[in-house]
Amino acid sequence: MFIGVDLGGTNIAVGIVNESCKLKYQKSVPTKNERKSEAIIKDIIDLISDVIKDSGTTNEEIKAIGIGIPGLADHKTGDVIECVNLNWRKVPLRKPMEKTLGIPVFIDNDATLAGLAEYEAGAMKNKKNGVFMTLGTGIGGGIIIDGRIHTGSNGVGSEIGHMIVGENYYDCNCGRNGCIETFASSTALISYAKKLISEENSETIMTEKLNGDIDNLDGKIIFHAAIRGDELANKAVDRLVKYLAIGIMNITSVIDPEIFVLGGGISKAGTFLLDKVRAAVLKNKYFKTLPVGNIVLAQLSNDAGIIGAAMLGKHNV
Ligand SMILES: [Zn+2]
Repeated sequence: MFIGVDLGGTNIAVGIVNESCKLKYQKSVPTKNERKSEAIIKDIIDLISDVIKDSGTTNEEIKAIGIGIPGLADHKTGDVIECVNLNWRKVPLRKPMEKTLGIPVFIDNDATLAGLAEYEAGAMKNKKNGVFMTLGTGIGGGIIIDGRIHTGSNGVGSEIGHMIVGENYYDCNCGRNGCIETFASSTALISYAKKLISEENSETIMTEKLNGDIDNLDGKIIFHAAIRGDELANKAVDRLVKYLAIGIMNITSVIDPEIFVLGGGISKAGTFLLDKVRAAVLKNKYFKTLPVGNIVLAQLSNDAGIIGAAMLGKHNV
C-alpha cells in the first residue's frame, strides 16, 4: 500500500492506494494557505495518520508516501524549491515527515504526478513514452520516458508551460514573453476572447451569458459558443489550438513520444478540441511523412493527484 498526498492551494487530500492503483480510502482538509509552512506540514502529517488509522491499515503496511506539490521540487533533498500559491520557498518537506512517520517520503510537481497517474492507470497505460499536458489556469506537464518520470537535473524537466512558442501581446508571469502557458491555458483563452470582444465589432453569443460583466467570461462559455459556431469564440479557440499544436510539434522534435494526453479544465471541451488539435498538428508537421504520437484526452478525474503521488512512492521503493 502507498499513501498519496495532493497538496493544493485550497485543499490537502490524502489517500491510500494499493499496488494496482486502486484508491482505497481518502480524506481531505482545507490548506488554509495563509499559514506558515510548519503548520501546514503538521496538518499533512496528522491527516496521513488519520487516514492510516481510519482505513484500518498500519504504518508497517505503507511502503512509501508520495506528495504532489503545486511548484518545483528538489528530488534529491526532498525540499520544496518554490510554491508560489503556498508562498513557500526552500521548505524542507521530506525530512520532517520521515522523522515523524518513519515511512519513506518522495515529492514531485503535481502536474508531473497527474501524468504518472495517467501512465499507471489511464490514457498512457501500456505505453513506454508519453507526455501529459494539463491545460488549466496555467500549463503543467508530466513526461514519461521508458517508463520513468523525466524530472531533469534541476527539477524543471517537465515544465512544459514555459516552452516558448511565439510572440505574445502580454508577458508570462515567469518574466519572459511567448511561453505556451500564455497562449493555451484557460487564462490565456479568456484573456484573448476578452480582447476580441472589446476590440472587434462583430456579434457574439458569448456576451449573452455574461450578465453585462465581461469578468464573468470563462472557458466554458467560450467553448459552448465555439461549438455553436460563434465566429469570435472560434477565433479565440483556434488561436489556442494553433500554439498548442506548435508546442506538441516542439515536444515531438525533442522527445518523440508515443502519445500526448491532454488534461486540465480546457480538455473538458472534449472531442471538439481534440479534432481541432489533431488537424492543427497535421498541418504543422515539418516532414509530411513524419508520424506524430497519438493525441488523446486524459482519463482520470480529480483523484489523479492522489493516485499519481502514491505511484511516485511505488516507483521509488
Ligand atoms: Zn513562462
